[in-house]
Amino acid sequence: MRAADIASDLKEVLVTEEQILAKLEELAARVTADYEGKELVLVGVLKGAVMVMADFSRVLPRDAPMDWMAVSSYGAGTKSSGVVQIRKDLDTDLTGKHVLIVEDIIDSGLTLSWLLENFASRGAASIEVLALLRKPEAAKVEVDVKYVGFDIPNEFVIGYGLDYAESYRNLRDVAILAPHIYA
Ligand code: IMP
Ligand code: MG
Repeated sequence: MRAADIASDLKEVLVTEEQILAKLEELAARVTADYEGKELVLVGVLKGAVMVMADFSRVLPRDAPMDWMAVSSYGAGTKSSGVVQIRKDLDTDLTGKHVLIVEDIIDSGLTLSWLLENFASRGAASIEVLALLRKPEAAKVEVDVKYVGFDIPNEFVIGYGLDYAESYRNLRDVAILAPHIYA
């Protein structure tokens, strides 16, 4: 669905599908240059990163195996609980691999800093992060996100994989949810 299909649930459209796809092409060009001659593994964080992974990996003009990890740091609400749990671990051995973590959004950065620490202990040759969206809070954390799509305001957003209580992931655009939906 597009934002126009659910306009009354939304406060504002932040990034359209067209803008997202153009940005992913830009990031793919950078990643291609940076990883030339290197064995690259894309690690997606379920479920939010599904759309980013699908579109980013397909505009990448090279082979890159993908693996998935499921963690949770949010409950059903809109605030981070600060607790990260592994719900599904990787199937891949990261030893000697160049890992690019593909994320939907970096908010508090708690999930990411936890993931980076966890992956560091698995012997990867390098670990970098690609995130479609980044909120201002992320600047306070000591995590370096090499590839960022869009810096957005500190609002709860949905769409393009991002959910509110598992809804709205199939919205093609990224939008700010109208407060009356979760108030
Ligand atoms: P962080 O640990 O606070 O950086 O956030 C980790 C995860 O929370 C992200 O990967 C998202 O899945 C989810 N999240 C953070 N902000 C939002 C939002 O605005 N809308 C929907 N999910 C979010
Ligand atoms: Mg996520």
